[in-house]
Amino acid sequence: MTCPICKKPADLSQRNRFRPFCSERCQMIDLGTWASGDYKVEGSTTPADNEHHDDLKKRRLLN
Ligand SMILES: [Zn+2]
Repeated sequence: MTCPICKKPADLSQRNRFRPFCSERCQMIDLGTWASGDYKVEGSTTPADNEHHDDLKKRRLLN
């Protein structure tokens, strides 16, 4: 079974609380939490921070 988001092999055992996704990142993407485009998550970055950055990026594109 592969992750429906990133197509990497996903751990579907009980240890993986993000099933059927491989990670929290992919689960969040599927839930639409992330804006389309750049949704990379680095270790210490929180989802809120990323949304904020995406927002700034969009505003720059619009201006
Ligand atoms: Zn994934």
